[in-house]
Amino acid sequence: MYDMRSLKAEEFINDEEILETLKYADEHKNDLALIDEILEKARPKKTGRGVECAGLSHREASVLLACEDTAVTEKVFALAREIKEAFYGDRIVMFAPLYLSNYCVNKCVYCPYHAQNKEIPRKKLTQDEVRDEVIALQDMGHKRLAIEAGEDPVNNPIEYILECINTIYSIKHKNGAIRRVNVNIAATTVENYKKLHDAGIGTYILFQETYHKESYEKLHPAGPKHNYAYHTEAMDRAMEGGIDDVGLGVLFGLDKYRYEFAGILMHAEHLEAVHGVGPHTISVPRLRKASDIDLKDFDNGIDDDTFAKIVACIRIAVPYTGMIISTRESEACREKVLGLGVSQISGGSRTSVGGYAGYTPDERPHDTEQFDVSDQRSLDEVVKWLMDLGYIPSFCTACYREGRTGDRFMALCKVGQIQNCCHPNALMTLQEYLTDYASPETKAVGEKLIEREILNVPDEKRRQRAIDYLNEIKNGGKRDFRF
Ligand code: SAM
Repeated sequence: MYDMRSLKAEEFINDEEILETLKYADEHKNDLALIDEILEKARPKKTGRGVECAGLSHREASVLLACEDTAVTEKVFALAREIKEAFYGDRIVMFAPLYLSNYCVNKCVYCPYHAQNKEIPRKKLTQDEVRDEVIALQDMGHKRLAIEAGEDPVNNPIEYILECINTIYSIKHKNGAIRRVNVNIAATTVENYKKLHDAGIGTYILFQETYHKESYEKLHPAGPKHNYAYHTEAMDRAMEGGIDDVGLGVLFGLDKYRYEFAGILMHAEHLEAVHGVGPHTISVPRLRKASDIDLKDFDNGIDDDTFAKIVACIRIAVPYTGMIISTRESEACREKVLGLGVSQISGGSRTSVGGYAGYTPDERPHDTEQFDVSDQRSLDEVVKWLMDLGYIPSFCTACYREGRTGDRFMALCKVGQIQNCCHPNALMTLQEYLTDYASPETKAVGEKLIEREILNVPDEKRRQRAIDYLNEIKNGGKRDFRF
């Protein structure tokens, strides 16, 4: 039976409830009066505490997703843009993945790291190699990483992951620093989540891959990841272990997208109901071709228009949850979804183990690669491109370092302090990037942007302090200011 407060996977992600939801969505997808009501409920509203959004239930959001009327889709896109503008403005947070090890004991049929793939060389970074990779990433300008590893209790035990996190945080090269390490590793125990929390991680990210239990079990035929309940209940254990910021995701292409969409929103509702805080981020990866993986074996792929609609509907349903898009997607697709709700993107990414150090921006090692990267531009190109599109690339990591995680981050959104806090933080970290790493063209575009945008910090005192800090970054050699 469906119970969003239950701690049992099959009760909070309840198959019957999802099927009922899809039926309800089909029955109401042409009910324009209901759709208008749903859109109205989700619209940002001014309250005594700033601008607030009510979000939508998985049922309501599923009606929007099911509706094929082009005029409604336009309204959905417009509302997604309005919500994005209210909470995220033009800021786009930058990050890069760092692959530590591709040893894996699982047999995920879509992932080239699966244990039976003999085509792929296995590699695990030593601490010296982690150091080289981090220096290469710092030299690009990155401040935020997502570490990635296969599941292998012998080769990649939690102690190895913790040692790598420690190494990453300890490296100070020139003006570089990794200030936030997000972690994407297999589901684990409360005890291990406590250790990750104590190591100072940012977000714990774990993709559900698919919420459909039967498909999940077929797609993960052996290994610890086969256990649907253990995987699906991982975020509850992470939160029990003290991690406030968790990142959800499904791998689109594995099962039917409408099922996954309802499932991920039910997961968000469950976290909010049980822990008082929803997911910090939602990722929307789509399946890519890879070593020993043939996309023809998967027939649930979605086109770019459907993908854009999913992004917009997620933005409307969970307005306070950041949304992440990786370099799995092309430049054109990334451009489309940036406006509809995405708030974080990776740039200059390598998905191989040891893919950064010792390679020029044009060289790309493929041997240990997890999947084919679609957007292959350098970080500098991505930063300039974002600014040319009117966005503000941000290397900010302030919230979690100031203890604004979980519901404390949501509170910042609700009191409308974002423009006095996130906006100058984005500009100051962008200034660091321009001073230390950018090409002359990117620097010229960025400095004009900062001059213009700093005037949009509403509080006068805060604005003046931010201007002083910007000068200290540019002329005084100082770094790491934050509000
Ligand atoms: N091993 C960890 C786990 O089991 O959750 C996560 C690390 S894995 C490097 C990160 C994610 O890559 C997986 O959760 C999966 O969604 C995604 N992935 C795997 N194979 C992929 C493929 N062929 N195309 C795109 N993404 C893929």
